[in-house]
Amino acid sequence: MNIDANRVWKEASSLLERELSVKDFQTWIQNLRPRRIEGGVLTLSAPFGLYRDRVRKAFLPVIENAVSTVVRARCRVAVVVDEDGGEDRPIAVASGPAVSWPPKAKPPTKAATATFGGGVRPRTFENFVVGEANRMAYLAARHIVDGSLGEANPVFLYGGVGLGKTHLLSAVRHALRSSGGRVLYYPGEEFTRRMVDALLAHRMTEFRREFRLADALLIDDVQCMVGKKRTQQELAEAFNVLHAAGKPIAFASDRPPSEIRTFEQGLRNRFQGGLITELRPPDKTLRAEILRAKLSEAGIDLDDGLIDRLSVVLQGSIREMEGVVANIRLASSGCEGRVEDAVLETVIAPFLKTNGPVSLETVIETVSWAFGVSREEILSRSRTRRISLPRHVAAYLCRRLTGSSSTEIGDALGGRKHTSVLRADKGVRDRACDDPGFASRLRDLEQMLGGAKALRPSSTRSRAGAL
Ligand code: ADP
Ligand code: MG
Repeated sequence: MNIDANRVWKEASSLLERELSVKDFQTWIQNLRPRRIEGGVLTLSAPFGLYRDRVRKAFLPVIENAVSTVVRARCRVAVVVDEDGGEDRPIAVASGPAVSWPPKAKPPTKAATATFGGGVRPRTFENFVVGEANRMAYLAARHIVDGSLGEANPVFLYGGVGLGKTHLLSAVRHALRSSGGRVLYYPGEEFTRRMVDALLAHRMTEFRREFRLADALLIDDVQCMVGKKRTQQELAEAFNVLHAAGKPIAFASDRPPSEIRTFEQGLRNRFQGGLITELRPPDKTLRAEILRAKLSEAGIDLDDGLIDRLSVVLQGSIREMEGVVANIRLASSGCEGRVEDAVLETVIAPFLKTNGPVSLETVIETVSWAFGVSREEILSRSRTRRISLPRHVAAYLCRRLTGSSSTEIGDALGGRKHTSVLRADKGVRDRACDDPGFASRLRDLEQMLGGAKALRPSSTRSRAGAL
């Protein structure tokens, strides 16, 4: 971290401490970390997306004023999130110096790290909460480890974002590895990347040898291979090698095999030849159980009634719940009183606000705010990239969160055809497959708008040209 940024932030923090209430300061300012100051912009990092968004929304002007006072010039402030390096974000590109979360003053306990990182704590069968919505998938994953799949090989898990697919594959990997098994685990893009590297280095023989040596093959986010012909061919090869040897194979995807239409027929048949199970969004009972488990992992003791209320409000993905637990932890760490008081104020209230039915207008406004373009620009005919990208993202989020038809969404986005909305939606999903940074930005936006409510899988790869 550069010295100047540190010094500036230290001084600005003490100004802010005088200006803001103790609770706001402790909850929303103290946990920001300076990264660098460059070109008149001080970059601060926040522990997770929801936190960053709240700081941007509620405190940016006051932070900018304080910082400008310190440097005696107009200084802008950017608030960003450090990549967490979780297992669903395999390409942990180090961006900037490492910043430790939570803050150094309180050394993180194991559980606390887990709630912030999302992927630091190993995801095992032990910390997977089983209920109606995910029992079949859980049992299928267990069968892989027990070696009792038999004819049911491969296992194909599918379901919406943040419902536990990666968790289950990780649990399988963890269990097999701890009994000495050689497990090949690839998030969808990683398989392609490794294959391309091998191709370029003329090391395909080695790449393929891995399959012969492996005891199990796990491929996450297999929908990311849509449209990648060579990848699919290699995957089919790998599949054949392991399958013939009776080794377990598991896939996870955001949609069922029948909807992965641009996959080679042969590969689709292979997916369909085993056990296909869906992970559904958890019902209220399971949501409460998961919340209880996550809170207890984070060492937070919360009133049962409050857990109950939260489990009514939090209807999105489980990842969203983890964000809330992290929020609760932050809120309670800055407060001497009972956890409930801090929680009600800083965590539940904003959630109650954002968790009503999401309207088309809310999505459009939020996206325009997040991308720094105006609502009018989103609705305009302009096709420059600066404007068409947020427009596509708005179409995608409207499809996922509002329950409106694509015709209604097209109307709200400035009178566009429903086919354009569908194309934009697919374009955004394709890009999310290729670009983890973009995917994480989408997740943050969804979380802000109240979480992933419904998943509408798209099946073909296309360019979102018309919107
Ligand atoms: P997906 O791969 O389906 O998008 P993940 O497996 O990454 O979702 O799950 C999102 C987060 O929610 C992860 O941190 C995971 O550990 C947690 N999670 C999901 N399902 C459960 C569950 N049943 N019990 C406990 N944690 C869960
Ligand atoms: Mg996943």
